[in-house]
Amino acid sequence: GVDRGVVITAALSDGQVLNCPQLTVKEHAQVRKHQRRAARAPKGSGRRRAECVQVARLRDKETDRRRDWVEKTSTMLARSFDTIRFEDLRIKNMTSSARGTIAEPGRRTAQKAGLNRAILAQGWGLLRTRTGHKAPGRVEDIPPAYTSLRCSDCQWIDKNSRKSQAEFVCSHCGFTCNADTNASNNVAAGQGGVPRPGPPGGLCRRDDTARAVERP
Ligand SMILES: [Zn+2]
Repeated sequence: GVDRGVVITAALSDGQVLNCPQLTVKEHAQVRKHQRRAARAPKGSGRRRAECVQVARLRDKETDRRRDWVEKTSTMLARSFDTIRFEDLRIKNMTSSARGTIAEPGRRTAQKAGLNRAILAQGWGLLRTRTGHKAPGRVEDIPPAYTSLRCSDCQWIDKNSRKSQAEFVCSHCGFTCNADTNASNNVAAGQGGVPRPGPPGGLCRRDDTARAVERP
C-alpha cells in the first residue's frame, strides 16, 4: 500500500518512508535571487535573459531529480511486491495537505502548499504511471475516502484519531502509528470508504462507516 502525501512523498505499508528529492534550501534561495535580479533588469536585456536561464536550469535540475526518484522507486516497488495499491488520487480532495499540525500551523502554508502540491502532483502521477508499466496487472487503485482517518487496526473512523500531520492515535482502541503508515496500511488492505470485517474478536466491525464521526 502506497500513501502519497506532501510532507512524506510516499509512505509504504511495510513502514518504509520515501521522499522525493526537491531543491535544497540553498537552491531555493538561488532561484529567488535570480528571479529578483531578472525582475530588476530591463526588459529584453541580455542580463534579464541570463538570469532567467539560471532559474530554468535550477528548475530542470529539480525535474531531473524527481524523474530519477520516480524511476528508482517504481522499479523498487515492482520488484519488491506482488500487488501494489495506490490511492486513486483522481478523486482525492487534497485541499487539507501541508497545513502543518493543528497545534503548529505552518507559515504561508497556502503558497507553500500550492507550490508543493503542484510539484509533487507531477511526481505522484508519474510514480503511479511508471509503476503500472513495470508491474503490469499488479497495480490497483483504491478509493481514497477515509484512508487517513480510519484505524488500520480496528477500522474505527474518527477525525480525532488524527492527532497531527504525523501522529495517529485511534480514539477507539488506542492503536498508535505514524499517520502516513496507518493510511498506507488502509490502502494496502484495499479499502478507503468500504468497510471490511475487523480483526477476529475485534470490538468494532462491519458497520464502522455508519459510525464515522465526521466525513473528511
Ligand atoms: Zn483502532
